[in-house]
Amino acid sequence: MKSVNRRDFLKLSGSTLIGLTLGGVALRAQAQEQLSADDATAKALNYKPESTVDGAKCSNCMYVQGSDGEQYRPCNIFPGKLVNANGWCSAWVKKPG
Ligand code: SF4
Repeated sequence: MKSVNRRDFLKLSGSTLIGLTLGGVALRAQAQEQLSADDATAKALNYKPESTVDGAKCSNCMYVQGSDGEQYRPCNIFPGKLVNANGWCSAWVKKPG
């Protein structure tokens, strides 16, 4: 009887682990979503996926994350979203250096 309980416990632990793993994948997938210009915060900051401001774009903004050369990159202002390297928003500040 004791060993059955233990087996049930292990089964539960296994499915819990699988659930947690799938949850992690879902969160990562969400973090990869491209920022839409229709997003409420994007609208508030006038985000455009193609900059119309000379010399200013996401790839040379101090808030952009990720690596140079990537087309879509995380941004500190829009957590969980990816911004276009050629984009721009009114929070733009020139990257130092
Ligand atoms: Fe682009 Fe605005 Fe993020 Fe700067 S703050 S990287 S301009 S979206």
